[in-house]
Amino acid sequence: MSKVVFANVKEYEQQQVTEAVKQMFEQLGGLKSFVKEGSKVFLKLNLVREMSADKAATTHPTVVNAVASLLQQECNATVVVGDSCGGLYTPAVMNSVYRGCGLKEGEKQGLYTLNQDFSSTSTPIGGKVLGSVEIINAFLNADCVINLAKLKTHSFTGYSGAAKNLFGLIPGLVKVEMHATHPQLDDFCDLLCDVADFAQSKIVLHLIDAIVGMEGPGPTNGTPKHIGKLFCGTNPYHVDVCAVTLFDEPAKMPLLQKAIQRDSLSQEFSEIDCDLSSLKADYIADYKRVQVSNDAAFLHLPAWIRFLAEKFLTQKVKMRKRRCKKCKKCEIHCPAKAIEMGKKKAIVDHKKCIRCFCCQELCPFDAVEIKESLLLKTTRWLSSTKTSKKRPK
Ligand code: SF4
Ligand code: SF4
Repeated sequence: MSKVVFANVKEYEQQQVTEAVKQMFEQLGGLKSFVKEGSKVFLKLNLVREMSADKAATTHPTVVNAVASLLQQECNATVVVGDSCGGLYTPAVMNSVYRGCGLKEGEKQGLYTLNQDFSSTSTPIGGKVLGSVEIINAFLNADCVINLAKLKTHSFTGYSGAAKNLFGLIPGLVKVEMHATHPQLDDFCDLLCDVADFAQSKIVLHLIDAIVGMEGPGPTNGTPKHIGKLFCGTNPYHVDVCAVTLFDEPAKMPLLQKAIQRDSLSQEFSEIDCDLSSLKADYIADYKRVQVSNDAAFLHLPAWIRFLAEKFLTQKVKMRKRRCKKCKKCEIHCPAKAIEMGKKKAIVDHKKCIRCFCCQELCPFDAVEIKESLLLKTTRWLSSTKTSKKRPK
């Protein structure tokens, strides 16, 4: 059994958050049972891009401050804070991300150091689809790691929580390469599980910041949604199951389905020691979920059905002319090289697009829209009225 605990927290008020985090750590056996005295601890945040904390796309600074101050007080730890964001992993980019995400203040207060080592090492991880991959040295050089994720919807994977957050252990544009070489969602989820399983050797705790999460077209273009909870445990899939229970059926999420297929998680979640019934009682029926389109589902269909399905039952990215500033960020990061600058806006070649939605995640001007055909919308509406508004049993 692995224990997952959660705390109800109304708002990002420092004292409330610190008290809640402290109580969760105590319920899990105390911070000292996970972190040795004097350790160098890396806090792996979700810093997808430069966005202020109130947009609910990144780990909130009060949560970071709470964990860092407890590590200092209780374990005399040296705390380093960081992530590899969705774009380039360079001092200029990452320092502007730190600033934009409100993390400079905690460093000024002496709670932690913001990571300035932007190197990485090719690391054997012995995964199913990834034998070895570049991993950021901030992670590799730490004595232990605490994963501080954010609860969000995600246009490609359905949701982003503890396990998905670990994709950020892969530096900058290597992530783009990973999308290009693993374009199918099913394969990509295997890759995410490979990284999460490898990282587990060093990660002592996974905490999800869901005081305010994101709903709608996440992970960056959605809207903040008050959830009022923090989750913590030692296993990323278990913590994710508990968090997702608040707004959807965990077994429907592609990443958790994949963890079940790989025997990293049981179908019944029987190994999770958590009060799931109390989470189900708090089920948020009106949460705006993301329906993922799993192109792999079409692979075994006859060619003509596949053609129609891909044409009428998949999502398409479209750049909004009025918002696009032709900054080229999407063009640089598109793993399929499907974007080029047109006269008035970025243009997508839909034949090349692999629907990874990196362009939507990274566009600083919210210019990327995900469009669904009428047929897809109707199909979703029919299935959502049948299932997703229901409180899970
Ligand atoms: S869509 Fe966004 S990221 Fe791409 S060029 Fe336009 S403004 Fe830049
Ligand atoms: S156009 Fe956007 S969604 Fe399509 S492959 Fe490029 S980055 Fe991914």
